[in-house]
Order: sequence, then structure tokens, then C-alpha cells
Amino acid sequence: MSVRVRFAPSPTGPLHIGGARSALFNYLFAAGKDGTFILRIEDTDLERSSHESEIGIIDALRRLGINWDEGIEVGGDNGPYRQTQRLDIYKQYTEKLLAAGQAYYCYCTEEELEQERQELMARGETPRYMGKCRDLTAEQRRELEAQGRKPVVRFKVPAGREIVINDLVRGKVVFESDGIGDYIIVKSDGIPTYNYAVVIDDLLMNITHVIRGEEHLSNTPRQVLIYEALGMKVPDFAHISLILNSEGRKMSKRDGDTAIVDYFNKGYLPQALVNFIALLGWSPSGEQEFFSMEELVKEFSLERVSKSPAVFDLNKLNYINSYYLMQTPPEDLIDLALPFLRAEGLFNEADILSEEQRQWIVIFLKAVREKINNLSEIRDYIKFFTGEEVDVTDEEARLIIQAPTVPAVLELLREKVHATPELDPPAAKSILKQIGKELKLKGRDVFMPVRIALTGQMHGPDLDAILALLGPNSIEQRLNKTAKYLKQD
Ligand code: GLU
Repeated sequence: MSVRVRFAPSPTGPLHIGGARSALFNYLFAAGKDGTFILRIEDTDLERSSHESEIGIIDALRRLGINWDEGIEVGGDNGPYRQTQRLDIYKQYTEKLLAAGQAYYCYCTEEELEQERQELMARGETPRYMGKCRDLTAEQRRELEAQGRKPVVRFKVPAGREIVINDLVRGKVVFESDGIGDYIIVKSDGIPTYNYAVVIDDLLMNITHVIRGEEHLSNTPRQVLIYEALGMKVPDFAHISLILNSEGRKMSKRDGDTAIVDYFNKGYLPQALVNFIALLGWSPSGEQEFFSMEELVKEFSLERVSKSPAVFDLNKLNYINSYYLMQTPPEDLIDLALPFLRAEGLFNEADILSEEQRQWIVIFLKAVREKINNLSEIRDYIKFFTGEEVDVTDEEARLIIQAPTVPAVLELLREKVHATPELDPPAAKSILKQIGKELKLKGRDVFMPVRIALTGQMHGPDLDAILALLGPNSIEQRLNKTAKYLKQD
């Protein structure tokens, strides 16, 4: 049978790193085996689920390039793919389980349950439901209902069972059914619980492998028992390890951004995020560090998914992102960079960029991309290329610019810039070279004063790019501003 896997997020917030990793591993596993990857929305938590979250998750998956073959928005033969649209389906199975005596109505109130919990704890036992309503007669049920009590449906957990899970990542994991009380499968409002709906969906969608986060391992025996009660084949499970922060604790909001959209908003590239996330728990067989999605599809296997926790390392993400910033043609980064340039007041929101403006951004990106971890950091470099304000505050810079040769350098620069019809980086480079030649100065004695006179700084992006991006008018204005720092004779 061909492989069928699914990603089944609850739309109760944005797509987080951990969720993206589950989605990616499922996607890679299916794509590598010519299988089918399904997206299903598990929205049975009515209070916490929202349409916005669902849209956010879908959007983040698409931006990452994690596309699904079947499911939400795409359709398929096993829909609907949103759990709240499948309530009738769950109901049919609940009736089956009730009729077979594998599930029963429970009328216990919160207070009664709490009391039971307290009693068990006082005796040093694991708090669980002990089956008070298991054997109610029809008469007793009618009485309880007459009191206005609305029942839940509980699954009857068989006693004394060992539930063995041969997890594809964690190996053999054994649970005892005696530690599990009869659990709720349908709430009093008729909505199924996660542990129940997930099983019905996975079996009706013919899921062959359930690949998900380790936090669901403890749910698995509850799910296995339902497959068994329905006489259905249990899928293979693969529980991928937790993602820890650098201190070895479970990654949380306090450790910085956990939502994928936060990383998009900071200007991390989708390919870099995918590459980084793939390495959270999976390792390739060789030394290769950078993988395109196609390469990941070829390389990925569950055998190389580790059962020890993955560690989230922002430095590594930055390293990977820097690599992709250098690899991507700058033309392809324009749209991603534009919001950050606009945030600094460059280019109007509504304007379609002219060819000249696009060219400007390309030169800009070429000049700064090796200095940044993500595109939001371009804000630190904008001032080099825009505006007229230049101050030379640094002591050393002031000394350099006071050298007796500097006025001639800057004068020649002014002349040559005006005489150059198209001041692109190669033209700028040759101007600087000629100045050195004509004044018989070393490169450094040209570059440093020009850099300081134009930016006020001793360091910064490539000088050729600075000249090209400023253009003749801004160069003129900046030279006028910094003339006051030169040695007057
Ligand atoms: N809706 C569950 C979650 O978001 C899915 C768990 C599963 O894959 O079974 O955690």
C-alpha cells in the first residue's frame, strides 16, 4: 500500500517551529516515497480554534513550500478535512462503540470527578476515572437525565492490557492499560475529543504513518485502544523529539520567536527556514549542510531521525540564512527586502518599482547582504545610502580626513562623478582608481577619506556601491556637509 501521511494542526495559534517540523517531516517522507501528504484541520477545541489561525497556518506552510496533495483547500476523496465538518461521521462510530459496549455514557459532575481525584491521590494512586457510570441501567440513566445532566461518552479501557508501540523513532514503548482511566471520547456538547477524532480520521483517511511530536506519545495508547476496539489496523507511529532551547529546556515563547511568521517578518528566507528546521532532529548521512527541498526529499529518512531532543540554535539559523542570502540572486530578494526598505521610508507603499529603483535595490542588496543575518537588519545600513546628514564624530576618522592630501582627493572625486554619465559600481571603482593614479596616492589614502567624507564612518559597505547608490547629487551634498572637517589652509 502506498504511503499516506498527514499534518493535522489545531488552529489555535500560529504555526510554530515544532509544528512546521512535523509538517516538513511528513511532507518529505511522503514525497520521498511517492506517497500522499494530507492537511487536516483539527478544530474540535471550539473555544481556542479560529479561522485566522487556520489561515495563518496554511499561509506559513505554503510560504515554506510545504505543499499537500490532499486536504484543506485542495480537496480529495476522504473529506471533509476539517473536523467540525465531520461530526456526523464521528457519531456513527460512537454509536457503534456504544452498541458494542465498548463505550458508555457518563453523567458524573465536575464535583464528583474532583472528589474521586482527591480520594485516589490521598491513597497514593494515579488519579483517573474509575468507571462509576460503566454499568448504569437504562432506568438509572433516565433518572440522571431527568435531573438535567448531560452525559459525556467514555471509552471503556480494557483491564490488564499491555499496549506495545513499535515507534519508528523511539523503538518499543510499552504502556499498561491499567494506568489509563476510561477517557472521554465525546464531550457533553457532542464534540469529540482529540484522542477519538484523530483515530477516526486517520483510519478513514487510510493513514499509514503517523509522524508527530513527542508530546503525543502519551496519547498513543489511548488511540491504539480505539483502533483495536473498532477492529482496525493500527498505523505506524513515529514520534519526533522535543525541541529544546540552548539551556536544555523545552523551547517556549520566552526563548524568543517560536512562530514561523515571526521569522518571515524578520526577513528569514523560506529555503533557509526549511533547511534549518529539517536539521532539528534529522541528520544527513554525509557532511552536507545546505539542502534544497528536492535534496531533502532525496535524503530524508525516519531512520536518521534522532530520539534525543533537538536544540534550537539561533546562530545556526543565522548561519544558514546568511548562506541563502548570498546564494539567492539579488533580483529574487527584491520583493522580500521591500517591506524593510519601506519601513525606513524608502519607496512609496503603493508605487510599482521602476527599473531604476529595482536596480538600486539590487546594488544595495549586493553591498549589504554579506553583512546581515536576515533582511530586517538592512535597516542598519540604509543611512549609508540615503539622506544628506553626515557627521564625523570618530576621533580617528577626523584625523584621517584632515590629512593634507584629502581636499584634492575629494575635489577630483566631485569632478569625476559629474563627468560620469552612469555612476554604477564598476564606474565608481574606476573613478577611485584614477584618483589614486593621478594624485599618486595609495588606495587606502583615497578610499578612507572618501568613505569618511561620504558616510562619516570608517567602516561600512563596499565603497563602489556607496558611490553608485548615493548618485552624483547626494555625493555633492555630502561633500559639502563634511567640508568643514577638512584641513583649512
Ligand atoms: N491536532 C494535534 C496537534 O495539533 C495533532 C496531533 C497529531 O498529529 O495527532 O497537536
